[in-house]
Amino acid sequence: MAYTISKLCTQCDECLPQCPTGAIKQDGKKLWIDPMLCNNCEGFYDQPLCASLCLSDAPVPLQAKKGRCRIDAKVNTSLQLFSSRETHPFASAIVIWEACNVLTQRRSLPWKLDSSGNLYYQRQVSGGRGEVTLYVADIHASGSPIALGGEEAETMITSWDIRAACLHLIYAAYAASLECAWEQTFTISDREISDYLGLGKRKDLSKLAKLTLIKTLAEQPCQLLVMVDWSTEGRFKHIQLPQSPLWHLVETQHHFQEDDMGCRHLTGLTFVIKAGAWAQFFLNRQGSREGTTFYQYGTLPKSLLMQVMSLWQQHEGVVRIMLWLLFKTRMGIQQRIMVSTLMRIAYGEQRLSKASAQREERKRLLRSFESDLEVLNHYGMKPIFDPVTYPPDIQPLWAKLADLPDDAEAALEFWTRDGSQGHRLTDVAPRDKWPRLMQARFLCFELPEDWKKPSAPAAQEKLRKSQRKEVSHTSIDKSSQGRSQLSGEQISTARRQLQLSQRALANHLGKSQSWVRDIEKGRLQASLKDQQLLLKVLGGVL
Ligand code: SF4
Ligand code: SF4
Repeated sequence: MAYTISKLCTQCDECLPQCPTGAIKQDGKKLWIDPMLCNNCEGFYDQPLCASLCLSDAPVPLQAKKGRCRIDAKVNTSLQLFSSRETHPFASAIVIWEACNVLTQRRSLPWKLDSSGNLYYQRQVSGGRGEVTLYVADIHASGSPIALGGEEAETMITSWDIRAACLHLIYAAYAASLECAWEQTFTISDREISDYLGLGKRKDLSKLAKLTLIKTLAEQPCQLLVMVDWSTEGRFKHIQLPQSPLWHLVETQHHFQEDDMGCRHLTGLTFVIKAGAWAQFFLNRQGSREGTTFYQYGTLPKSLLMQVMSLWQQHEGVVRIMLWLLFKTRMGIQQRIMVSTLMRIAYGEQRLSKASAQREERKRLLRSFESDLEVLNHYGMKPIFDPVTYPPDIQPLWAKLADLPDDAEAALEFWTRDGSQGHRLTDVAPRDKWPRLMQARFLCFELPEDWKKPSAPAAQEKLRKSQRKEVSHTSIDKSSQGRSQLSGEQISTARRQLQLSQRALANHLGKSQSWVRDIEKGRLQASLKDQQLLLKVLGGVL
């Protein structure tokens, strides 16, 4: 239990410089003990030092606060995210993506030491024309944060919590709502963070435990420094960004409530944050209009933050993939993804190499991967297997059974048909499953509905783009113009007329059988691109 300072304190300041953890702080004239830093002098002294040296007996053990927590000072925070929508635009530039990878994959990434002994992670971008380099810094050290050397940086990376990536995305969403993010600050309260992360429902955590968690998570993205070197690309100028903080933690305000003994209880936190200099190059709306800088944003679903908060402990691989897909998968665009790439993201290069060399590790990794894919599928991120490189005989069993009809009679027919074939769905995997998997790929991941719902500014931008496209008559396939949306019944009738099974049609389209079934039953609406594909395959009879 941490200590606190009661009203018996005479402000002699004797204890202030002596606390071994730096937990005693000065707020105006009064002293207070940060309960997140005080560890009762464990590992330093046998007795709590402040209590033993105080002549006024002012330091006392901190008791749990009774009653409601109220914040005295009026806290003016920035515009609340997700106020009326399930999504919010967020800065999605490569710098933000790589920082998200660093916060989620941490020690699994190939960190290196530079000539000054500082640890860094570097990623080549734009076909080798640019580099994004990330360093680790101590934000509590005096002066501006500087890159940490090997051992210190490794200790810091090991202490990182994967949930800090949520705060990084929240900051990216706040930054996207500012006109000049590199100059303006944004303010977030612990209550807002708690709402975004769904912490309000956690009855197992005390107020202090929640505040401690929020403060820890809020600080971690600010411990990254970024450096960018990117050659001229078309009309964009050469970007040379020296080592600078990714997010500036400008101020952390602590809010207290005093009890009858004069002990101050921490009841709230407010963070004032500013985006780093990277925003001038990658989140510059004015520059982007002039065609000299980038303005890159994506759509952040609130549900993703909640899912990370509930899955991080049991399914870290799933969380890593989800956050990577947020940047990788662009709505409506088929993105082919190698299985080996996804495994590297979920489990790291080292574990993948070990699995390639050792049979037992390979089995374990495969089990984790297939179960993680199932969890992704459960949360609406449906993997679409490439029928050529990732055929059913090497697919996970849950995926093969996804087409099992609910109706008992149809299910019996399904199993009878399966039993009459040379290969059954439940047959053991072929011996060459691993090498084939290393060459296999996903055609794309279908995304949950709420991920696709564009937030207002994104929707407006999309509308503007589509209007521009219409004017230039460039990209809309004439075959689909003037046609209304194909109904599931039309598709089903046309397929039967061509004597195609759902699986055969799915193979022609590069989709799964369950996708075809969902479209035919009207559970899914085909996108414009998919309708064009359907017209190509079924056009003769439609
Ligand atoms: S707690 Fe005690 S030692 Fe510390 S400033 Fe107050 S009176 Fe002085
Ligand atoms: S008990 Fe020890 S660690 Fe806690 S505030 Fe007092 S001196 Fe600092």
